Amino acid sequence: MKAFIKFYFFLLLIFLNFACAPKPYYVIPNEWKTPERKDSVINFYSKFLNGWKIFIDPGHGGKDRKNIGIKKRIVEADVNLKVALYLRDYLAKAGVTVFMSRDKDTTVSLEERVKMATESGADIFISIHHNAMPGDENTFYASTWYHAVEGDPKFHPCNRDIARYIQRDLAYALRISGSLASFDGTMSDYLVYPKQGFYVLRNATMPAVLVECTFFTNEYEERKLSIDEFNRIEAWGIFKGIAKYIQAGIPKIEFISDTILTSEKPTILLKVSDKSGIDKQNIQIKIDTILVSKDHITTIDGNGFAIVLFTPNFKLTEGTHQIDIIVRNKNGNSSFPFKRNIYIYKQKQVTEP
Ligand SMILES: [Zn+2]
Repeated sequence: MKAFIKFYFFLLLIFLNFACAPKPYYVIPNEWKTPERKDSVINFYSKFLNGWKIFIDPGHGGKDRKNIGIKKRIVEADVNLKVALYLRDYLAKAGVTVFMSRDKDTTVSLEERVKMATESGADIFISIHHNAMPGDENTFYASTWYHAVEGDPKFHPCNRDIARYIQRDLAYALRISGSLASFDGTMSDYLVYPKQGFYVLRNATMPAVLVECTFFTNEYEERKLSIDEFNRIEAWGIFKGIAKYIQAGIPKIEFISDTILTSEKPTILLKVSDKSGIDKQNIQIKIDTILVSKDHITTIDGNGFAIVLFTPNFKLTEGTHQIDIIVRNKNGNSSFPFKRNIYIYKQKQVTEP
C-alpha cells in the first residue's frame, strides 16, 4: 500500500512540474493583435507575391524520425511539417502557388524531393529544418543556408539574397539571433560539407535555401517548439522574409537576339528590367566561363533597360557559346541564374539583284 501511495505522489510531482513550469518566453507579432490586421499584412504582400510558385520541403519524416528533442518532447520531422504547413497557408493566402515535398508524415528521399521540385516548375525552393548540436545543450541560434561560397562556380548570389531576407525576419520573429560564425546569420552549406554542401541545395534546379529555425537540443528551445503558437510564429517569420525579398524585386533578363553576326561590330543585345533600377556597377557577364571586361559592356537607358556587349577584341569563333549573366538591382538583389547559348554566324554577302 505504501508503495502505491508513493507512486501516486510521484505522479503528482511530475504533473505539478509540467503544470507549474512557466510558459517559455516568445513574442506574438504585433500584426496578430487582431485577425483583420493579420489579414491586411498578408493582403499587402499579395501585391508582390501573387503569381509566384514556391516549393516547400519539410525535412525528414516517415521512416526518418530519429531527430528527437533533448527532453523527447518533439520530433524534428513533425515540427518541420507543422511550420511548413503554416507557411503554406500564409503563402497561399497571398496568392502564391505552393508545392510541397510532403504534407503528412511520409518518407521522401532527398532525390525525390529535388525531382518533385524540378517537376513542379517552382521559382524558389525552401527546405525547413530544426538544428541540433549533440553534446552542447547551450547552443541555439536561427540560421538560413545557401549553396557554396563566393568564388566557387556553384555559388549564385541570388540564393544568399533569399537567405538574407528570410534570416532577418525569422530571427526577429523568434527573437533568436543568428550565429556569430556569420555576420548576418546566413550560412554556406560548405561550412558543414566542404565543396559539397547539402544535397537539396546542391541539386535544386531553382534558387534554393534551407532554414534551420532553432535548436531542439536546447531544452528551453525545445519547449517552445512544442507550442503550436510558436510554430506559427516561425512560419510567419519565414513568410515575411520571402515577401520582403520579392517586394525588393528580382532583375529580369531577356535576350533581344541570341544570334550574332561576326561582321561589322558584333554585339549581344539584352534587355534588363527591374522596378528599382539596375545597379550599373554590378553587371557580371561571362562567356564560356570567362569574365567579360567592363570595357566591353555598355548600358543603355531607354525602353526599360538594355546592356550592349561590344566584342571588338573578342575573338569568338563561329558556332555556339555560353553566356552567363548576373545583374543586381538598386536594392541589392541579384537576378536569377541566366545561362544561355548564343550563336555566332558570319554575315552572308548581300548581292545586288
Ligand atoms: Zn533536419
